[in-house]
Amino acid sequence: MSDSTPTSRDYPLRTTKDALHLQHLQTCLVLSLECTVSPTAFCVGSTFVLPAPPSPSSSSSSDPEAQGDLLLSTGYSREPPLPTSHAESSALSKLLALPLDDLHSLLASQKPRSWPGSEGWTHQDVLERCDVYTTLEPCSVRTSGEPDCARLLARHRVKRVFVGVNEPPDFVQCLGTRFLEEAGVEVWRVEGLERECLERARRGRD
Ligand SMILES: [Zn+2]
Repeated sequence: MSDSTPTSRDYPLRTTKDALHLQHLQTCLVLSLECTVSPTAFCVGSTFVLPAPPSPSSSSSSDPEAQGDLLLSTGYSREPPLPTSHAESSALSKLLALPLDDLHSLLASQKPRSWPGSEGWTHQDVLERCDVYTTLEPCSVRTSGEPDCARLLARHRVKRVFVGVNEPPDFVQCLGTRFLEEAGVEVWRVEGLERECLERARRGRD
């Protein structure tokens, strides 16, 4: 009998081909080029994005800025100063490290308009409205012993996570999607850049 351990690959995922999400994922792909390649780890890029506030007039555009999305933070694997940092944990750390005044200035810069009441938001208020984009499924196991990204994102109660491709079982069996969904975080797979995301993840290991 085959191993019946569930993996994220078997987990039913919401999917989207929306041009706006693809555009955000392209930004993550560019970030993943910054990673120092490693024989024992993936190269991943990630962004934290505050979507446009709900609008009475339903305008739609595939240009993130025209749409009103605000880029809050970026990260990539092994981003300095931590040689073991992951893309999502690095982007999260940078966002959390932002002084409150700087956070409010950033929120006020959202075009064409900022969220009502955002001048009083805490970091947690932002995270709960935030979408995380990542080229590879957030990890559920870290050999370095640090908290895994799925757990970190769930603990900070981000709203949604958009992934380019599920983590292949090159190193460990990843249960990131499953963990996030069970913790109440919506996970979406963005369709259309799977090959690029996977090639980028394995960069330098051929
Ligand atoms: Zn991770």
